[in-house]
Amino acid sequence: MEDSQDVLICGEAIDGKITTITKELVNIGRELSENLNQPLRLLLIGQSLQGVAAEAASLGSDVYLVDDVPFAESVPERYVAITAEVCQKATPSVIIFGQTDMGREVAPRVAARLKADVCMDCVDLAVEPETSSLLLTKPVYGGNAMAVWVSSEHKPQIITIRPRTASPAEPDSSRKGEIIPLTIKVDSSVFKSKLQESVREEVRGVKLEEAKVVVSGGGGIGGKEGFELLEGLAQILGGALGISRVPCDEGWMPSNLEIGQTGHVVSPDLYIAIGISGAPQHLAGCSGSKCIVAINKNPEAHIFKEADFGIIEDYRQALPPFIEKIKTLKS
Ligand SMILES: Cc1cc2nc3c(=O)[nH]c(=O)nc-3n(C[C@H](O)[C@H](O)[C@H](O)COP(=O)(O)OP(=O)(O)OC[C@H]3O[C@@H](n4cnc5c(N)ncnc54)[C@H](O)[C@@H]3O)c2cc1C
Repeated sequence: MEDSQDVLICGEAIDGKITTITKELVNIGRELSENLNQPLRLLLIGQSLQGVAAEAASLGSDVYLVDDVPFAESVPERYVAITAEVCQKATPSVIIFGQTDMGREVAPRVAARLKADVCMDCVDLAVEPETSSLLLTKPVYGGNAMAVWVSSEHKPQIITIRPRTASPAEPDSSRKGEIIPLTIKVDSSVFKSKLQESVREEVRGVKLEEAKVVVSGGGGIGGKEGFELLEGLAQILGGALGISRVPCDEGWMPSNLEIGQTGHVVSPDLYIAIGISGAPQHLAGCSGSKCIVAINKNPEAHIFKEADFGIIEDYRQALPPFIEKIKTLKS
């Protein structure tokens, strides 16, 4: 790994389209590659990805394409094996994943194989001009503080970056990338897991991680019915609905909406926390929001210490006029 030379983004594609987080990583990677004076490359692994690779190349990055990879067996293990192999050949100095389900699973395993440093869940990335070390900012103590980590000289450095850290890269007509097909053979007989079934998550409206507005409800909502009001508010604002642990434990709402340490990590422009106490495990999933508005009937609720704006009232009284006001402003 002595000839480290690229900034490599590990991209993802869903339904024949490059994902939004991958486009965001391209934007971050572009700036990093300019600062480090190293080429930007993007790795795509999957099946029938020619169209996706062309879309990725139009963003200005060269694309390593490992196509026709079967998914009948373990997806993460295959990704780990292929990514590690590509990195051994390409010797990148920095490898960037999204802090997605795939990134969370694959990045640490690739780091173990390459004996590389890994820094997960970064929300900012800069280069120290004198040393070219990476300055990696990530939330710590459940999102109550930010820490800046300075990379060591060891290469490669592996990083995962939280969705919505940067805006998505737009096609760049001045620097179309080249598609570089790679054939990587992996020994699947050593894989320990097997994909049994693939179930598509039903998403109504915007995906939580991509939403600019998240309306979240907690134990204070008191039951399934109360969430209709919150869903209405999310819809008017073009946002997504989230929950704390309590509505999921109580069976009021599905667990795939949970925000927090064990759920989604979101960083919208606006996070509206309704009937949520503000436990550290919940804040771990939303403290990166640009603006937090809390509605809680208890003036002592911890959420008010984290919120930019607060309404001390029963949500049943506070929300209907709030929704009416937004409707008026939008009409
Ligand atoms: C290992 C571990 C991991 C965890 N991971 C997560 C996680 O990922 N996400 C998560 O959310 N939690 C997580 N938890 C649980 C967490 O500790 C809290 O128990 C949980 O977040 C509390 O949810 P809540 O604030 O919605 O509910 P509650 O604690 O029940 O608080 C309800 C709030 O609503 C207010 N309220 C009540 N009625 C009304 C009303 N009518 N109008 C307005 N306000 C009202 C109350 O004043 C109160 O502040 C985790 C816990 C552990 C131990």
